Amino acid sequence: MIKLPIKEYKMNKTLLNILACPQCKSSLSLVVEEERDDEVITGSLTCTKCGLVFRIIETIPAFI
Ligand SMILES: [Zn+2]
Repeated sequence: MIKLPIKEYKMNKTLLNILACPQCKSSLSLVVEEERDDEVITGSLTCTKCGLVFRIIETIPAFI
């Protein structure tokens, strides 16, 4: 499976499977705070290896 670096994608649970940490290419774990259908409105993505964290705001993952 092709892993894509995070850009300005609308975040949904299917997309999680193809996203990778831009720093180390590892998998990301998703914490959902608010969701609508399959879209994640707010929450966070954390790299399982290097611990890089992205906030998801209005469905868009933002590097912090
Ligand atoms: Zn990483």
